[in-house]
Amino acid sequence: MKQPIDWLQVLIQCRSNVQRQITPLLTTLNQPQPDLGIGAGGDAIKQVDLIAENAIINTLEEHELSFTVISEESGIKECGESPYDCYVTADPIDGTTNLMRGIPFYATSIAISTKPALNTVFAALVADLFHGITYTAQKGVGAYRNNQKITPSKETSLKEAVIGMDLNTYKIKEMIPKLTSLIQETKHIRHLGANALELCYVADGTTDAFLDFRGKLRTTDMAAAWLIIQEADAIITTPEGKPLNARLDPKQKVTFIAVANKKINKIISALIKDDKKEKK
Ligand SMILES: [Mg+2]
Repeated sequence: MKQPIDWLQVLIQCRSNVQRQITPLLTTLNQPQPDLGIGAGGDAIKQVDLIAENAIINTLEEHELSFTVISEESGIKECGESPYDCYVTADPIDGTTNLMRGIPFYATSIAISTKPALNTVFAALVADLFHGITYTAQKGVGAYRNNQKITPSKETSLKEAVIGMDLNTYKIKEMIPKLTSLIQETKHIRHLGANALELCYVADGTTDAFLDFRGKLRTTDMAAAWLIIQEADAIITTPEGKPLNARLDPKQKVTFIAVANKKINKIISALIKDDKKEKK
């Protein structure tokens, strides 16, 4: 009989192999980089992205697993005899620009699901590769940061809250009216440049919310963090407050609001709604 797969173990091996494979490259990042074209997600591929992706796929193949990989770099690839057994959604390096520029905030993100759909993710890992911090979650068993169970913050004051917001879009003029009231009421806005990790910061109480309304973030970037948020008992919804689900695909984009608790969710959502009303 086939042994059940210990996905957590497999994901941790993936992370260790990514870490090991990219380490030699970190000393050569200021040298000219080869032109590797555009990845499935639409961004220019860097050598470090490909090496990280190969490290993940090779680790899964060593375990003789069958799977369909959905990756930001190579797109959709079927591996093994029964590739629809499970889906591996990966952003091999989240925050490549940070890594290339020496900003110590980048991660590897891997989600395992039964279908190519966000709400079927059942195991996840997001690893902060610079600081050696690994977030994991399995459906129904909670979320962990270096094996310690995590919970989101209980902060309910917007004045005290640290709120992440990705404003990195040429459509900023369309987006900003929705966010003006919230920005006016907030004192600590952050964007750190690796959205998977920023979502984990909401899950473990480091920050209190993270919003991405750009319609630019791929599901490959946030599939793993989606489960970590859910399992930590934080909240992630569409900007309208509906349950968030989406196809897992390097071209599928999402908008969302992730918040630590119901009270701050209510406060933030009300400010966003007010802005929508004013716009009409
Ligand atoms: Mg990436």
